[in-house]
Amino acid sequence: MPFTINGIGTHYYFKRNLVANPGVCEHCQRQATLSDYDIGHYLVVFYIPVLPLGRQMIVGECNACGMHRAMSLRKYERLREQSIDAGLEALADHPNSANAALELLGTYTAFNQHAEALDLATAIRGSHSENYDAMLSLGAWYEARQHLDQAEECFQVVVRLDPDRLPSKRIRLYAAMEAKRVAEVKGLTQDLLAQAPQEHLGVALRAAQFLSEQQRFEEAYRVFQKLVELAPPLTKDKDFRRAARVAEQGVGLPASLVPPKKLGMID
Ligand SMILES: [Zn+2]
Repeated sequence: MPFTINGIGTHYYFKRNLVANPGVCEHCQRQATLSDYDIGHYLVVFYIPVLPLGRQMIVGECNACGMHRAMSLRKYERLREQSIDAGLEALADHPNSANAALELLGTYTAFNQHAEALDLATAIRGSHSENYDAMLSLGAWYEARQHLDQAEECFQVVVRLDPDRLPSKRIRLYAAMEAKRVAEVKGLTQDLLAQAPQEHLGVALRAAQFLSEQQRFEEAYRVFQKLVELAPPLTKDKDFRRAARVAEQGVGLPASLVPPKKLGMID
């Protein structure tokens, strides 16, 4: 890392080739904007860059905590070339392997080769459209990149291939909320919480809020209750408490059951 004392030391200057993507920071674990770029590393004397020390590649700089990885640009370019070559070779050896294709897609993405990644994603959609796991991964990949129409198309294929697998039910739950199909929302939420509760706390919370919004307070209240049972710390969360209280009051419980600082359902 560059540092200076009394204006003498090293510093980064002249940022180039900035690419910013949404992602989860590996340092602070927050959803953030992660930036990759290359930048000149200079010897500075009295804050003036006097000697270039080579370009550095900054990878995954987090806009929340500022942490990133750094390596020499030359090393980064070599690593990128080697990784992509290895991925292309693996795919050439196993041209029908969805995993090899998805792995190469991940490599292209990690190294910001977006045009190649999009072309490959289109190819995967063409050749693995009957492969449940591949289409699910590809849908998630499109979604993370904000290509929401393509994500939606992949998720629809997933549901058609096997509507009863858990990921399909989760996709169907979001679709049912969108279309305001209340009975389906209720049924799918119950299914997901029964089969894999811990993985589905977030989507179940969304469903509980949806049921409240649709004035289905009774059903919403049951989902909130289930969530409290599964994850008691949720009751400490301000937003959760607010949402749960709406359902609770909607059910028509006496106000004494919901004292200001406590949720009636857990008293
Ligand atoms: Zn961070």
